[in-house]
Amino acid sequence: MRLFVHLPIKEDEPMVQNFGKYQNLVGGEFVSEGREKDIVSPVDGSKIAKVILANAEVTKRAIDEAHDAFYHKWLKTTLLERKTLLDRLSNLVQEKSELYTQLESANTGKTIRQSTLMDIPLAIDHLRYFAHETEFKETREILHPEYPGTTGTIQYAPLGVIGAIVPWNVPLMMTVWKLAPAIVAGNTIVIKSSQFTPLTALELAKDIDRAGFPAGTVNILAGEGSTIGDIIARSPKVNAVSFTGSTATGKKVLNAASSGVKKVTLELGGKSPNIVFDDAELETAVKGSLFGIYLNSGQLCESGSRLIIHKDIRKKFVEMMQEKISRLNAGNPMQFETDLSAITTSDQLDKIREMVSQGESEGVKVIQPLNIEGKVPSSGFYFPPTILSGIDGRHTIAMEEIFGPVVTVQEFESEEDAVRIANDTNYGLASAVWTKNNEKARRVASRIEAGTVWVNDYHLLSAAAPRGGFKDSGIGRELGLEGILEFTQTRHIFFSNTENALKEIAYGLLLP
Ligand code: NAD
Repeated sequence: MRLFVHLPIKEDEPMVQNFGKYQNLVGGEFVSEGREKDIVSPVDGSKIAKVILANAEVTKRAIDEAHDAFYHKWLKTTLLERKTLLDRLSNLVQEKSELYTQLESANTGKTIRQSTLMDIPLAIDHLRYFAHETEFKETREILHPEYPGTTGTIQYAPLGVIGAIVPWNVPLMMTVWKLAPAIVAGNTIVIKSSQFTPLTALELAKDIDRAGFPAGTVNILAGEGSTIGDIIARSPKVNAVSFTGSTATGKKVLNAASSGVKKVTLELGGKSPNIVFDDAELETAVKGSLFGIYLNSGQLCESGSRLIIHKDIRKKFVEMMQEKISRLNAGNPMQFETDLSAITTSDQLDKIREMVSQGESEGVKVIQPLNIEGKVPSSGFYFPPTILSGIDGRHTIAMEEIFGPVVTVQEFESEEDAVRIANDTNYGLASAVWTKNNEKARRVASRIEAGTVWVNDYHLLSAAAPRGGFKDSGIGRELGLEGILEFTQTRHIFFSNTENALKEIAYGLLLP
């Protein structure tokens, strides 16, 4: 059953509202130093806001403020106080959820339906998750089996200042994924949002201020990665860097951070395999696979961009996909009934076009069952849902992340084959297995080199579950208990007592 009715686009009416001017939050103040930039909406190419791109000086000041706030204010707070602030923040975001939804869709081009039902509510839920989660304990008591009569306390201490670098595709949620666990663990933070999609992070800055976070504990900047992102990664006052973005930039960040000794977590790109066995429930697997690749027009790090289908069902499966694609609503993403998101930047649109035509020139067959021309706003950035067949592992397009609504199709004969094709990539972020046989699903899932494996589903995210990559898809984990622990360092306090008989034996190793 379709819930939405397609409405025609009226090109003479403004599709996206103007949101005014946004500043950066530094040391509890909204500052305007830097270069003013127009934010252009991919929905229709119109200017929707002005932001200040922070310069080097402001960035260094934000780091200094976070450093001072950590030592002079934040270290004295309790876990409960920090969680209370996060909870308050979640309520403030909820109150303004409609504004956040409009901002996120206007800035990224994701459909308003997706922002309303997924991006913004999940960001709120994830703030709440960290405000209320109970798995993380700041200390743990141990015994030392070698030394009877002694005890130990393990403390999970904060690291200090976290430098967080966020990509353009899921701006609010990615900001929350760094902010909330870092705050729970007792750190202060400098967040650099993407220069392309900073609006929801800068709106969040206003709510952080309203929620009463002490000045300097949370600093939010918009700015260029190669300048201010690099400053954050290199700064000796930044104790850890939490980066989400492409693998190529992740390597640069790792390099820059290695000018000091600091912890780095990298959430990077993917080329995720989506394996469909011949015993899968076909209708669900087709829908799930379309959802896996075309949600957000494929601009999700974990998008199921490599479809690996059993040879006996490949033809029928692809036909079913084509039929469903042909019925998708291409239109203005700001209307609730539109199914397809825009491509967030014109550079990304160019990259998708180039990669697909390179594949075509290498002999790959390009299938585009939906003609979007005349349906999507003419001055926006759009690419139709695309299936590439005639693929083998040697094609660049089967190996490199495209980050667009493009899926490659390969077929397999045996379980062994499926696992080999799935793992034949440098990436290892996510994957899915579709089968009615749970035993087979567990067996195959356990052999896939990826940080997340969905069985009979795709994309479903839980704040309780750690996320991250194998191989070139990353180092470290985000979300869940593991995500909080990434923002801590352990301190061991060894308690002995004066009557401990072992002392005499131990000291006797040296003292006569
Ligand atoms: P990107 O690598 O171009 O940029 C990511 C961030 O890094 C941006 O804020 C950018 O300004 C900054 N940056 C750029 N150069 C830098 C430098 N030299 N030093 C420090 N920072 C720098 O990525 P993108 O195009 O914004 O996002 C898309 C990519 O992100 C895709 O590869 C996608 O797979 C990946 N991604 C991964 C995850 C995950 O959880 N693994 C989630 C979302 C996106």
